[in-house]
Amino acid sequence: MIVTRFAPSPTGHLHVGNIRTALHNFLLAHKARGQAGGRFMLRIDDTDAERSREDYVDAIRADLAWLGLNPDGEERQSARLAIYDAAFERLKSAGRVYRCYETAQELDLKRKILLGRKLPPIYDRAALALTDDDHARFAADGVAPHWRFRLDHDEPIAWDDGVREAQHFDAASMSDPVVRRADGSWLYMLPSCVDDIDMGITDVLRGEDHVSNTAVQIQMFTALSATPPRFAHEALLVGAEGKLSKRLGSTGVADFREQGLEPMAVNSLLARIGTSQPVEAQHDMAALAQGFDLATFGRAPARFDDAELLRINAQLVHAMDYADVAGLLPEGMDEAAWLTIRPNLEKVTEAHEWWTVVTGPVAAPELSAEDAAFAQAAADAAQALDWNDEAGAWKALTNALKQATGRKGKALFLPLRLALTGMDHGPDMNALLPLIGQARTVERLRAAA
Ligand code: GLU
Repeated sequence: MIVTRFAPSPTGHLHVGNIRTALHNFLLAHKARGQAGGRFMLRIDDTDAERSREDYVDAIRADLAWLGLNPDGEERQSARLAIYDAAFERLKSAGRVYRCYETAQELDLKRKILLGRKLPPIYDRAALALTDDDHARFAADGVAPHWRFRLDHDEPIAWDDGVREAQHFDAASMSDPVVRRADGSWLYMLPSCVDDIDMGITDVLRGEDHVSNTAVQIQMFTALSATPPRFAHEALLVGAEGKLSKRLGSTGVADFREQGLEPMAVNSLLARIGTSQPVEAQHDMAALAQGFDLATFGRAPARFDDAELLRINAQLVHAMDYADVAGLLPEGMDEAAWLTIRPNLEKVTEAHEWWTVVTGPVAAPELSAEDAAFAQAAADAAQALDWNDEAGAWKALTNALKQATGRKGKALFLPLRLALTGMDHGPDMNALLPLIGQARTVERLRAAA
């Protein structure tokens, strides 16, 4: 059984990097469904009461739903504070957390002194030397302690990372992390371990910015008498230009929706960038999950390219059935029209522009005198044409005009396309002309003449 979790803090909207992490956790769990079983959990990390907002919690749920990443269960850290207290008491009894009183300025000064001596800026554990009397004095002065987790310097830290392979850390080269503030509130580190244990998380898959947290958390799992889950840290996401961009940090589901992109285009891209597997348009999650494999993830940043996203989106649209899109299409656009127009679309929403070409009005082009005369001849030919000619109306029309005027190639086709669609490119005219119909064809050619 594989149990994964996505653990956003509801202090803002999900951005594409968060979405990618959520997707990968979803896929890892869903891939296991066909085998030993898999569950994908949502954990709302809302211990920061000041910055967490309920509307962001709603937005996170809605974004996941739009993407099709529905969780199998949800937990909220704000509802579990008593459980963290209990775990904390256990660590206290075991001497794994200790009281500290340094102010931010004092800590900053200590760091600067160490850096000035070219030493790593590790917390010096001065508070471990405080006596009962010292603590009593702070208490008498009304100074409450904050708490650090005491790393075990003799316990080697190692794990086999799902992406980064063998990882080793020396606890002695790390600062004992602050786990609880003086006001009793929690920092991220400890509650996350407690939750991972309680929720039976087997696999923690997250960004490589968490690698050093993992080193600390591995000792926390042990201190809480639990076996740490498997860990995997993926390389971060960068823009097409190869840098972490501000824009990427604020791009999310709202933008994808607004641009008219398909959720599966976003998923298809985010599932494969940064891996050795090709990015392919996938229509359903099961197929994406099937191919999901941490072993194919590289150490180099994953590149998110809008142009690639659009290309994948177009591939999906080109394969969409009328039934999938009927509700999104303009009034009157039937299946035949959809199938004709579909190959020209990058997004379903563009069907509206094409339908305007069919139903009109179409702006009459500025043609040279020669082309205008040709348009006049074309209007007459279209009027006289057997619209049900078995070669098709477009073939019949252009064949007739070729014979009558000697024009061919671009000189034959372009003025007709301009007059009939107002554009120099677009759907296959063979398919488009029957949709436009004889009356509008004649009318538009006359207007261009
Ligand atoms: N709330 C944490 C974050 O968003 C979760 C990290 C984790 O996956 O443990 O960074």
